[in-house]
Amino acid sequence: MPKNNKGQNAFYFFMIDWKKEQEKAGKSFPEGLRDVQRDPQLSIDWKNMPAHQKGQYEARAKDSKVKSQGTTAKKTTLGENIADLLAAEKKKQEFQQNMLQYIDSVISMGVQHNSLGKMKFMLVHANWFYRREVGINQYDFCPAEFAVAEFSLDRGIENVYHEVVSTKIPLGWRKDALETSQETHKITIEHPNGQSDFAYMYRRLVKVLASNKTGDKYPPLFTMKDLTPAINSLLKRMCEAAGNLDNFVIYSLEALFAALRNVATQNVKDDCSIPLVVAENEFGKDTFSSVAGLECEFHKLLDAPQYCSMSIVKRWGFTICDYSCEYLDIPMIEGVHYPMNKLSFNSRTAGTLNIQMNNLSINDHNNVGVSMTGVSADHRRKVSERTEKDEQRRRNVCKSLEIIDHSKYTSNTVRILRLSVLISNLLLLNKIRVL
Ligand SMILES: [Zn+2]
Repeated sequence: MPKNNKGQNAFYFFMIDWKKEQEKAGKSFPEGLRDVQRDPQLSIDWKNMPAHQKGQYEARAKDSKVKSQGTTAKKTTLGENIADLLAAEKKKQEFQQNMLQYIDSVISMGVQHNSLGKMKFMLVHANWFYRREVGINQYDFCPAEFAVAEFSLDRGIENVYHEVVSTKIPLGWRKDALETSQETHKITIEHPNGQSDFAYMYRRLVKVLASNKTGDKYPPLFTMKDLTPAINSLLKRMCEAAGNLDNFVIYSLEALFAALRNVATQNVKDDCSIPLVVAENEFGKDTFSSVAGLECEFHKLLDAPQYCSMSIVKRWGFTICDYSCEYLDIPMIEGVHYPMNKLSFNSRTAGTLNIQMNNLSINDHNNVGVSMTGVSADHRRKVSERTEKDEQRRRNVCKSLEIIDHSKYTSNTVRILRLSVLISNLLLLNKIRVL
């Protein structure tokens, strides 16, 4: 059993988790861990646990040992070791710096060789059933679906590798899994037609990545910042199943989006570059979320196409193209750079200020000038193709307000937009100051 001066062992951490799971399933342990130890199922479950999960417990034990040895080190009020926190923060900053440098250097190379449009970037999205804490700020996500795709400004999204994943959901996590599914992607748990062979998925993944390798290094995978832990967990499962220790790098899709947008607009007369924080906000609005027909075969039958990983990676591609292609003189091709179904297609302005908030729209084109994305009202009219009826409805329900573009604000050239919105939606405008 664990000794405090040496830290806790792996089995101890397993017992803690096991107890929680059993309690979720309705069992009770009046005498705490003493009762847990008496339960014969405990050692059966420990013996039958997959090696990768045992490894996670070993890691926690190791971490605990290191921590217990450093008891004299300074701690925060939460008992965290300050030196550890500082080291973690430094590591995070270095990672961020390396990422930005990488993105800058590949894009500069593309510009230099006039091949920016041809450059391939790998995008990845995943849905999950539940997430389980396996260490300090470390989670194991139980995957439900994922999509990996190749993206370039010239050809949009290509070579999508998509899977609906089927894994055994432990009894104690079924409720969480069902709830997550119900609230988001609606994929059936333990789907009979889902893929359960992670080694197979690993082989398929590296095949998709192979053509974009630099030497023996796989290209970075881009995903939205908040999805990074889920993608990490998914890749870990695949690597462990394949017995491979590949270290995939996951970078921020928002940072790539900002860099492409900014390099595309660098020669534009009016400065319409956007800082990362604005790019993150813009990208998160998911301009094309209402576009139908981009989803996978599974989601075609489910009532949640907008959550489909395949649909999402395609929408990411459209969003990047929407913000960059016209400045690079890349012809916008229907189905490649923007959705096929024009009726369900909404321009970046619609996305920026309408789609997610549903009711936000342009009131008077003459007063709009340039949006916070730097796009003219003429261009918006050209691409948005709203119906007259829809436009009329928007005009009738809207009231005007002014928005400051922070990207311009920082450079002291604030652009004030007169826009029409429903008052009830104002609070949804994160990071945009409403006057
Ligand atoms: Zn799907």
